[in-house]
Amino acid sequence: MEVGQEGRYVPHHPQKIAFLFSAMRHFAGELEKKGFRVHYSHLDDKDNCQDLLEEAERLAGRYRCDDIRVTAPGEWRLAERIRKRRGTISWHRVADDRFFCSFDAFAEWADGRQRFRMEHFYRWMRRETGILMDDDGEPLGGKWNFDHDNREPLPKQLDVPCPVEHRADDITREVIELVGTHFGEHFGNLEHFNWPVTRRQALSDLRHFIERCLPRFGDYQDAISDDHAFLYHSRLSGALNAGLLRPREVCEAAEQAYHDGSAPINAVEGFIRQILGWREFVRGIYWLNMPDYKRENRLEADRDLPAFYWSGNTDMRCMRRAIEMTRNHAYAHHIQRLMVTGNFALLCGVKPEALCDWYLSVYIDAYEWVELPNTLGMVLYADGGYLGSKPYCASGKYIDRMSDHCRQCRYDVKKSIGEDACPFNSLYWYFLERHEKQLAGNQRMKLIYGSLHKMKDDKRKALREQAQDFLDSLEYAPAYGRGEHLQGYRRAKTAG
Ligand SMILES: Cc1cc2nc3c(=O)[nH]c(=O)nc-3n(C[C@H](O)[C@H](O)[C@H](O)COP(=O)(O)OP(=O)(O)OC[C@H]3O[C@@H](n4cnc5c(N)ncnc54)[C@H](O)[C@@H]3O)c2cc1C
Ligand code: SF4
Repeated sequence: MEVGQEGRYVPHHPQKIAFLFSAMRHFAGELEKKGFRVHYSHLDDKDNCQDLLEEAERLAGRYRCDDIRVTAPGEWRLAERIRKRRGTISWHRVADDRFFCSFDAFAEWADGRQRFRMEHFYRWMRRETGILMDDDGEPLGGKWNFDHDNREPLPKQLDVPCPVEHRADDITREVIELVGTHFGEHFGNLEHFNWPVTRRQALSDLRHFIERCLPRFGDYQDAISDDHAFLYHSRLSGALNAGLLRPREVCEAAEQAYHDGSAPINAVEGFIRQILGWREFVRGIYWLNMPDYKRENRLEADRDLPAFYWSGNTDMRCMRRAIEMTRNHAYAHHIQRLMVTGNFALLCGVKPEALCDWYLSVYIDAYEWVELPNTLGMVLYADGGYLGSKPYCASGKYIDRMSDHCRQCRYDVKKSIGEDACPFNSLYWYFLERHEKQLAGNQRMKLIYGSLHKMKDDKRKALREQAQDFLDSLEYAPAYGRGEHLQGYRRAKTAG
């Protein structure tokens, strides 16, 4: 069912909507070819209710169904609506098989633990699944984690493979036109649409990644490029989350590359950790803690989203490029999300609901089960350290080390004060100062608070004023929220 309500509860990127509609239409066709009877509700069917539950019940009535069976939704809001539904027909939720770890298994792992750390969960998952384990039950390569080998900055010379080009067939072309007509006002363009919409295409993306990108994935996992949106990342999150690929086959393909000698252990382990570790872990955290998790705001952040998140209209080169890539591809890689757009919002004190709605809207892979813990927990530290042991806050120095943005920026990354000073620098110190009470006791922040304490009062004052002036100079996207979700975006677009 293509229903307008699901495309609009936040203003999803048009590529995301086109990706899902096209994949659904292709899948319906494949089922029909196999002899199944399929009813497919098109977005512009006259009798389409445009609401998922109502449309399903309308069809169930029409086909005289006994009940409705649905894969457990990936978002609390839908799961709750289904749970509370009291219509004439009953709903049954079927477990989602796009994951390794069931809700019950995660709850069992979590039971009795004071602290949840992804690394502990990941080791447990490796043992449970046998992935990246040798015959003696030891981690392959002799270590659980090769993360310290995966922090190479961007090299001067780069040979980045282009992604596989998927030619749009009639179905995809039709869908792109439909989405342009119905959702054209949303942030994002459709011109660069190049996502896999069938399992065959998704498998060819997987092969391409394993052969061409995986060998260097580890080394440049944290690097950021002004020119290359994807670098050596897999671009598989959309296909994984939509069910075109299974996490096990993706992990096994990567492990096989290690056994074949075509990819080094730091790359293979680093990649598998993202899927077997992070992806499963954040999902577990989400379902274990909703709906309370969504209300967390331990740092009491209360600022609206800066309007340029919707327009890209900023002189900060790193922010501008991350937002432009997002607009063009419905994609930015993890470090751009975490250390550029995420870090900036953390330093500014953007309120969780405003930032979460942005991330949920703009990425090809965004569903609340994965977006919320990453944004609210990992980026904003709004859960007080439940998901991550410290905030990922950083000054411009980090971005300069990992990217080639700064030398193309109008701001000077080496300066903290003055008209051309990099805004990340003063915001960083101001953030640390504002949250000293919550963060200074954190062992992992001791060093940096030591530097803050050594700083002379007049320097601290100058940094504080620089940051406050910068924050005052920004335009914000007001009244952005459920129900009014397009209002902030429209105003920002007009202003931009
Ligand atoms: C603020 C923020 C919001 C995010 N929102 C989403 C989201 O809505 N949907 C989503 O799938 N990922 C999200 N992520 C995680 C991660 O950024 C994306 O999965 C990744 O960038 C997708 O690109 P890729 O397929 O090229 O990933 P690669 O770098 O190639 O990684 C391989 C795979 O590992 C998984 N993965 C990697 N990191 C994470 C993570 N932190 N959490 C869960 N899975 C992970 C993904 O399935 C990804 O395809 C978010 C991260 C941040 C910091
Ligand atoms: S100078 Fe600052 S704002 Fe400019 S690209 Fe570097 S980190 Fe970003």
